[in-house]
Amino acid sequence: MKDLFIIDAHAHTGFPNIFFSPEIDAQAMLRRMDQLQVNYSINLCSMRTLHGYQSIELEKAQQEFEESGGRIFYCGFYDPRRWEEDIEILKKAVSQAGFKGIKIHPSFNNTPADDEGYDPVWKIASDFDIPIVAHTWSVSSYNPSQVLSTPEKFEKYVKKYPGVRFVLGHSGGRGTGRFEAIRMVNEYENVYMDFGGDIYCYQYFENMERQVPENKILFGTDYPWMDLRSHLTRVFLADISTSFKRKILRDNALEVYKLEG
Ligand SMILES: [Zn+2]
Repeated sequence: MKDLFIIDAHAHTGFPNIFFSPEIDAQAMLRRMDQLQVNYSINLCSMRTLHGYQSIELEKAQQEFEESGGRIFYCGFYDPRRWEEDIEILKKAVSQAGFKGIKIHPSFNNTPADDEGYDPVWKIASDFDIPIVAHTWSVSSYNPSQVLSTPEKFEKYVKKYPGVRFVLGHSGGRGTGRFEAIRMVNEYENVYMDFGGDIYCYQYFENMERQVPENKILFGTDYPWMDLRSHLTRVFLADISTSFKRKILRDNALEVYKLEG
């Protein structure tokens, strides 16, 4: 494989907050991408975005997109508690070449995924044909706010807006969340999953090949908080068909985020 080929559909640049990350800028990301044959990455958001600095961070992300030669795409962000401001920002951002989706994070924003406050973001995603990617996880005894982001909580909007491509980020996390994610990608044509994060189940992809349609699972890492190489190795070593590997590593992200192949 000579050509840059892979798409990391779940990455981040910028201020890492509490996470230890030695490589937080776009230049470091590009070096890794070149080293590992990653053609495109999608920067879902920086930590500063989550803390309310979306306008500044979107400008920075667009600059990174341009400086990377169009290889580091990015998403906008929507916090239902500041919905009017975020919708205004997102309406301006959609015309930017590097803008490819909208991230939501119900746990971080302390608002359950089925709250009425999310309707405006699903509407704008529907109107402008933009995918939504959400933080999703399982109910967690040590991290109680995860209960706000379990996959089935998004189902109300998945049904209401069947034209919106919706990605369950982290594939619902561990345990019950993952089972719900698997159910939803089978049940709804518009629902996908990425496996960015720190789940390293043995034989994960062999199980996924049996349980989810081939076009529904996207390669993602949560780089730079997680090492790109550890996730890539899992896909390469998995005992699954070459066509499934190709869909995971590239084709499915091209389809969901409408990237040029
Ligand atoms: Zn992430």
